[in-house]
Amino acid sequence: MNHQPNTADIQFILHNVLQVQPQLQALSPYGEADADLMQQVLEEAARFVADKVAPIRRDGDEIGAHFANGTVTMPPGSKEAYADFWQNGWASLSCAPEDGGQGLPEVLNQVLYEMLSAANHGWTMAPGLLHGAYECIKHHANPELKAAYLPKVASGEWLATMCLTEAHAGSDLGLVRTKATPVLNPTADEAAMGAAYRLEGTKIFISGGEHDLTDNIVHLVLARLPDAPPGPKGLSLFLAPKFLPDGSRNAVVCERIEEKMGIHASPTCVMRFDGATGWLVGQHGKGLGAMFVMMNAARLHVGLQGVGLLEAAWQMANAYAHERRQMRAPAAADGSRPADSVGQASDLIIHHPAMRRILDTQRAWIDAGRVLAYQTALELDLARHHTDPVRRERAQRWCSLVTPVLKSAFTDQAFHGGSDCLQVFGGHGYVREWGIEQVLRDARIAMIYEGTNEIQAIDLLVRKVMGDKGQALTTLLAELQTDLTATDAGAAQQAEFARMATALNEATAQLLARAATAPDHVYWVAGDYLRALTLVLLAWSWARIDKASAGADARWVAPSQALRAWVLPEFDMRLRLLTTVV
Ligand SMILES: Cc1cc2nc3c(=O)[nH]c(=O)nc-3n(C[C@H](O)[C@H](O)[C@H](O)COP(=O)(O)OP(=O)(O)OC[C@H]3O[C@@H](n4cnc5c(N)ncnc54)[C@H](O)[C@@H]3O)c2cc1C
Repeated sequence: MNHQPNTADIQFILHNVLQVQPQLQALSPYGEADADLMQQVLEEAARFVADKVAPIRRDGDEIGAHFANGTVTMPPGSKEAYADFWQNGWASLSCAPEDGGQGLPEVLNQVLYEMLSAANHGWTMAPGLLHGAYECIKHHANPELKAAYLPKVASGEWLATMCLTEAHAGSDLGLVRTKATPVLNPTADEAAMGAAYRLEGTKIFISGGEHDLTDNIVHLVLARLPDAPPGPKGLSLFLAPKFLPDGSRNAVVCERIEEKMGIHASPTCVMRFDGATGWLVGQHGKGLGAMFVMMNAARLHVGLQGVGLLEAAWQMANAYAHERRQMRAPAAADGSRPADSVGQASDLIIHHPAMRRILDTQRAWIDAGRVLAYQTALELDLARHHTDPVRRERAQRWCSLVTPVLKSAFTDQAFHGGSDCLQVFGGHGYVREWGIEQVLRDARIAMIYEGTNEIQAIDLLVRKVMGDKGQALTTLLAELQTDLTATDAGAAQQAEFARMATALNEATAQLLARAATAPDHVYWVAGDYLRALTLVLLAWSWARIDKASAGADARWVAPSQALRAWVLPEFDMRLRLLTTVV
């Protein structure tokens, strides 16, 4: 079953729940982004995804990327789909018009990538790093490098990589050893681009390090100058293209690609830099800072991979549950049986409470995930373009606290909730025919890359919450409470949110007190804290959805009930875990 994006649901969240359009149109770059334009873009995007990207998912998995003699051949259909993608302007959707982009809001770009990931996670890895590379070059490269590389990266004509990881340096990038030596006698071409360096070292796990999708590949490489201090402060960022400006091949070699659990359409490359020419991007020793320009958007992007993959799993499982009959489901309280049971020896899987519970619960996660992710994308736009500094600060607070939640909680849910969706198929889910086992294999990596989920939890609790003694978090929760009052959310939903927010603030105060005598405690429970905040944010999201859907449409009522019955009770358990003594 090929994935079909559900644009009606997406539009409902964007417009009815979050009212993004007037907020976007009030920002100077998006004056023309009216509701019609947004709808047109989303419908076109959905068509592209369904027609061009979804159909090549299976070949991407089964045939995969193929390595031979230093080159990588992408699976059938990938190249054509990618040419369609960038030539039709999808790569440059939210890039600035002065860079050749279409200047549309970030939120539309994020929705596009949610649809793409749902339809074909492996293929989407190729363009997935483009926007981050664009931001990085735009904000940190010198004018000459920008002139040579920014337009091609903005348009997507050339793809880009992020070369950080080394065999001994994964989460701890401070251990990176790749060396950058200044070129003492640069050629005229080399000198024309600014300070040139020779890069030496081996990077592993580089997504899209080599492929045949584009004529050139722009590598962004973290490396260390000979006299740089050890640790993260000694890292600088370099741009090293596969082909140099004179058309010759740079000394960047793909040694091999990894055999791996999923995303087989994405080559995960070992890349050797054998004295490759690279140019400094930004300042010496500020390499990680330059990379972090792309981090918030990239982490949101991975969070949306989670939402998209769970949507894909849910669509498959929901369709199957409406076709397959097994055993009798219990009758309703009034003794009635479903109309579609009449004359049948057994009931549809969807009528078994255990299966309904799975599907409604995952629906509750997906819908709330969209609310949180689209709001985060909107906040990124507000942080960049709002004229009021107070509103910009609020937007930054939201992005800083909610982004690790999205990245971590929704990639966890894609895998674990996706596994529940596979359960709906019984043994048919475990075999390849139905396609859902691929979702699980593909989804697993999102919990690991772009900062593992454990690192996200530590970033949230230790750095962002404890770092200012809980002030930003308390402010965010108060803003969300005010928002529910302002949007006239239901009284029960407001009370539910207030209870959870108060309890989380109290738990934060207890953790701060405990840190004085047991500084390692927070590291044991950071994952529980992130999960507790996730559940508070789910309560807020569903208060907004309940209001917008007015409790009338069964489409929204069932997951709303599932949230209260099966998801939110976990909150109190997580709070108890926060006080566990190890
Ligand atoms: C398919 C794939 C694609 C990738 N794409 C790219 C890419 O394009 N570019 C790139 O540079 N890298 C890429 N990576 C690398 C990826 O970002 C790393 O694998 C990831 O950062 C984790 O590093 P590691 O694998 O060395 O694990 P380690 O850092 O060794 O961690 C092992 C375990 O220990 C935990 N851990 C480590 N430190 C802490 C801590 N302080 N507190 C708590 N727990 C901790 C981790 O959470 C993890 O569970 C990719 C990896 C894969 C598999």
